[in-house]
Amino acid sequence: MIVLKDINKTYYTGKTSLHVLKGIDLKINQGELVSIMGSSGSGKSTLLNIIGMLDNHDSGDFCLNDEKIEHLSEKKAAFYRNKFIGFVFQSFNLISFKNAMENVALPLYYQKVPRKLRNKSAMEYLEKMGLAEWAHHLPNELSGGQKQRLAIARALISRPKVILADEPTGALDSETSIEVMKIFKEIHASGITILIVTHEREIAAETERIIRLKDGRIESIIENGQRKKWLESQHMA
Ligand code: ADP
Ligand code: MG
Repeated sequence: MIVLKDINKTYYTGKTSLHVLKGIDLKINQGELVSIMGSSGSGKSTLLNIIGMLDNHDSGDFCLNDEKIEHLSEKKAAFYRNKFIGFVFQSFNLISFKNAMENVALPLYYQKVPRKLRNKSAMEYLEKMGLAEWAHHLPNELSGGQKQRLAIARALISRPKVILADEPTGALDSETSIEVMKIFKEIHASGITILIVTHEREIAAETERIIRLKDGRIESIIENGQRKKWLESQHMA
């Protein structure tokens, strides 16, 4: 589904350059639920943004669904994003002056789906997320957990193959985080590939593989079977 070979990325700001990703090799199979951990600045968001075609890599190969992704025009990138990817962010990225239903329907607006149809579809996804009665409320009338469920509904409405979530529980209390993680697991059970960037061991431990980034390199990949052991060693440390 996602294949990265020797991916490098450098940011240039003025006279300084920052080599953020230093030869990332990674393969993620269709239907996997994977987490990415690592300290702040290790390149997690950069990696996610490259996979989500929000940013370009400098060198190396990146294939998504057997298609080589390189030098995409903004139009082509948007096309692939709409077709394959759903994003979920820590800060929800909801539009404050649009109600819940309109926020969820937004990806279909960009796909030029007629209003009636897109609102109908939005209502179905709101219902799935237990938010039907909030359809006509603005985001600031919702709790953090509800906002994130709204953002997840918006990510799902275009039927993506992959969900990319950048610290989706970072702004939520632990009880709400568990709730949101449960939703990701349900989505995963429906066959969608999910990548979650997280700082929280409890969240990472719910995934099938944990990829640890350090200074732009993959430090380790912890597979399902080793998870429990790893968690225990973390708690003892
Ligand atoms: P993480 O998500 O692991 O915290 P990021 O991928 O966001 O890390 O960032 C890695 C490094 O790259 C950080 O030092 C950050 O300041 C820098 N960085 C991220 N985006 C940009 C950018 N657009 N321009 C310049 N530097 C950036
Ligand atoms: Mg980040």
